[in-house]
Amino acid sequence: MGHTAAALAFDVERVRADFPILSRQILCKRLVYLDNAASAQKPQAVLDAVRHFYAEESSNVHRGVHYLSTVATKAYEGARDRIREWIGARDRGEVVFTRGTTESINLVAQSFLRPRVREGDEVLTTHMEHHSNIVPWQILAEQTGCRLVVAPIDDRGELQRDEFERRITARTRLVSVVHVSNALGTVNPVREICAAARARGIPVLIDGAQAMPHQRVDVGALGCDFYAFSGHKLYGPTGIGVLYGRRELLDAMPPWQGGGDMISNVTFEKTTWNELPYKFEAGTPHVAGAIGLGAAVDYLRALDLGAAAEHEADVLAYATARLAEVKGLRLIGTAREKIGVVSFVLEGVHPHDIGTILDQEGIAIRVGHHCAQPVMQRFKVPATARASFAFYNTREEVDALVHGLARVRELFPQ
Ligand code: PMP
Repeated sequence: MGHTAAALAFDVERVRADFPILSRQILCKRLVYLDNAASAQKPQAVLDAVRHFYAEESSNVHRGVHYLSTVATKAYEGARDRIREWIGARDRGEVVFTRGTTESINLVAQSFLRPRVREGDEVLTTHMEHHSNIVPWQILAEQTGCRLVVAPIDDRGELQRDEFERRITARTRLVSVVHVSNALGTVNPVREICAAARARGIPVLIDGAQAMPHQRVDVGALGCDFYAFSGHKLYGPTGIGVLYGRRELLDAMPPWQGGGDMISNVTFEKTTWNELPYKFEAGTPHVAGAIGLGAAVDYLRALDLGAAAEHEADVLAYATARLAEVKGLRLIGTAREKIGVVSFVLEGVHPHDIGTILDQEGIAIRVGHHCAQPVMQRFKVPATARASFAFYNTREEVDALVHGLARVRELFPQ
């Protein structure tokens, strides 16, 4: 398998130099960071933006007349503008800052769907979801009597499209689907899913936590109604994320939490809501987080993301081929369209042992159920080991992983 021209044009060493943590040592070994699906590393530009805010501009936003508050507000709202442009939202009111994907989905469950569902209504999802796209609907089901309907996946970890479409019924009130599975790497055909749902007048929420770090997503072109993602997986800070929502829907929704900043006028008799997006941003927001996320988006804009994606695809294909050489290794998730993830089990070795032994080699992978226990149940495994890639990973790091797995085999002979 040869390097493609675009992958070669991508200067991975130069990109790696932008991420200070990648040059640190772990237990006297060079860090091999293959846990990007859990949280990606941050480029210097993001670290600088957060530090600059706290060192030079630290202040609350929206309510100060003094200089620092004005500057902080400008930086916070400027970040929103850049994120709006990056995801192709029509107006800034459609970009709501949240704590992350989890909070974004809970917001849609409680503020959008709860007032709209009755007993027997349905939320349609898939068997490959993260718990954060399962549990909020189960809570809603407890509250309202609605039902969570699950479309099956096949042995490769691909959504069974015909089964999915069959489950769209007159009772479906929302389709909520992951864009890219964190446990399997499967890329779902979200554009087609949106088209199928919208043809029947059903709104769609896409969990984009694992898609955003690997490609530019245009919410308008996708045709979704809501799109949720997290800053920390997008090379930005923790504790910040976004809910994109179509203005018509957000406008019609009641607030999610009450408090400062989300009101227009408060009396004890009646309170009116602030305009979008502030109606959904009660309390002091994560100002530094939003600014850091804005800097992450700037970083991605300056990168050749197409070439980065080709490089990543090359590393994923290389990893898939090399892991096939490891005796007793079984890949979990072999979809034809995959991004960023190799999940596997090794015969006779618990994934936690794999993770611990690799850690001693400075290799960070994830082991466990990846907050996707139904996926584990589907493949009849208690857990998997998962290496997940970002554009700064290399073939050499894959070699280190395979070498580490050979060490695991030595310690756990078949
Ligand atoms: N959805 C998917 C597909 C994820 O991978 C994750 C994080 N592992 C989440 C949702 C939840 O994201 P967060 O913990 O940042 O809210």
